[in-house]
Amino acid sequence: MTQTTPISFEFFPPKTDAGRAKLVGVRDTLATLAPEFFSVTYGAGGSTQEGTLNTVLTLRESGIDAAPHLSCVGATKAELSALLNDYRDQGIRRLVALRGDLPSGMGMGGELRYANELVEFIRAEHGDHFSIEVAAYPEAHPQANSFETDLNNFIRKANAGANSAITQYFFNADAYFYFVDRVRAAGVEIPIIPGIMPITNYTKLARFSDACGAEIPRWIRKQLEAFGDDQDSIRAFGEDVITRLCQQLTEGGAPGLHFYTLNQADSCANIVKRLR
Ligand code: FAD
Repeated sequence: MTQTTPISFEFFPPKTDAGRAKLVGVRDTLATLAPEFFSVTYGAGGSTQEGTLNTVLTLRESGIDAAPHLSCVGATKAELSALLNDYRDQGIRRLVALRGDLPSGMGMGGELRYANELVEFIRAEHGDHFSIEVAAYPEAHPQANSFETDLNNFIRKANAGANSAITQYFFNADAYFYFVDRVRAAGVEIPIIPGIMPITNYTKLARFSDACGAEIPRWIRKQLEAFGDDQDSIRAFGEDVITRLCQQLTEGGAPGLHFYTLNQADSCANIVKRLR
């Protein structure tokens, strides 16, 4: 990876005063790495709507652009319209547009069913004002009936007017390269940025990976299991594995890297410094 390979960092809206105070330090550490942008997740059903905007504003104080994520599940068109107008008034030019997942028991609801409809809606309401990122799943979305169906749904979403895509995290570089090849074969040229998850906590990673459909390869799982509570070894091994993955990806043509920071600076910063 070169000094100029674009990187970006994703955050979630902190829920406590301590979390908000810590965010500023994490932001300042990661800002020194000159990312292209920060992004902030959004709770489907509007649960963190205010937190998302506040976090975007805090991150932007560093001088780095910040993009809110936005999901359509459970929302009316009027609610989405109001939110988009609000973002536009705040000078926001970049969005990550998603379907989202409602907490279990809340049903699906909402007027737009899939992310491609949200992208169409944003384009219809705001033309080219926003640069729109969408999600991609090299190992297939967990609810997809098949890889092919999911691939076609991704292509539909890209053709609805997305500027760029960020992938779900994965540990198998081949899954990414195969996905990109198939998208290109369908004539879709938008950049597809790998989403990178640093490995810092095995229990949380295993739980999250099950839910989002990311495979943890056996050789990584076995090592992490063997480390038990030894957090230093997990972190050191995790940084090695993820640095190598990032190297493979950028050498193979990935146009940038998007890091899921989980509001922690150290592993992301160490990996980026090693890559550069
Ligand atoms: P879609 O692209 O709509 O796809 C969802 C499912 O429906 C897939 O199985 C797809 O194959 C299928 N599908 C898509 N379009 C159609 C169609 N037209 N007809 C029939 N089937 C279709 N979640 C949050 O709640 N908040 C966040 O901030 C957030 N940020 C994320 C950021 C990234 C980079 C990624 C990769 C994921 C993020 N997620 C977030 C998780 C995401 O919301 C979930 O994975 C969700 O289940 C799918 O959202 P999507 O936008 O990919 O959906």
